Amino acid sequence: MTVVQEERTTEDLKALAERAGRELEDASALDILRWAAETFGSRFCVTSSMEDAVVAHLASRALPGVDVVFLDTGYHFPETIGTRDAVEAVMDVNVITLTPRRTVAEQDAEYGPKLHDRDPDLCCALRKVRPLEEGLEGYQAWATGLRRDESATRANTPVVGWDEKRGKVKVSPIARWSQEDVQTYVAEHGVLTNPLLMDGYASVGCAPCTRRVLEGEDSRAGRWAGRSKTECGLHG
Ligand code: SF4
Repeated sequence: MTVVQEERTTEDLKALAERAGRELEDASALDILRWAAETFGSRFCVTSSMEDAVVAHLASRALPGVDVVFLDTGYHFPETIGTRDAVEAVMDVNVITLTPRRTVAEQDAEYGPKLHDRDPDLCCALRKVRPLEEGLEGYQAWATGLRRDESATRANTPVVGWDEKRGKVKVSPIARWSQEDVQTYVAEHGVLTNPLLMDGYASVGCAPCTRRVLEGEDSRAGRWAGRSKTECGLHG
């Protein structure tokens, strides 16, 4: 697909996001991604935590070869890295792995070990928020797998919105989906998923900050369990 790369101002992008958010509220996830592909072309990417490859799969249908950005914090479960490698091997996507400026060993030397236990906000800022900000610089729009049913903090996620922090259009094509919708899509299309989802984990993040969920808990209850923290700062 050839897309004319318009130069757009921040105000243009913001207006575009707000209009699309209204007009695409009832559109299918694939149609939302087709709109993003047609509007932004190669200046659109998908971010994936490699919990599953549902949004990457949908996006590759709308824009074959789409960039899929993965943040390798240095703290991932081996299963997550394996999922990333499998996605890269079998899907029509271009996986881009972002890494923090410091390795875990370098961070430990500078801030002391287990910063995630003492100051998870700083750890996330160093290992997630900053690398993503740098990695998204060339894009006008990015897609996420946020869903309204995941937690109270995500209940108002627009399908297309304005990412004020980064000055980009933020696309959440499966915002209206339920967990059941995700499972149906995975089964129908044979989409890769992180093996930890079959082992009691409902949401997969960095190993030190993720535990299995208990019955009745929402899907993100296993992230930073026991702390007031609910988001890493990527979506705040
Ligand atoms: Fe650090 Fe935990 Fe945030 Fe990962 S999720 S960057 S280990 S605080």
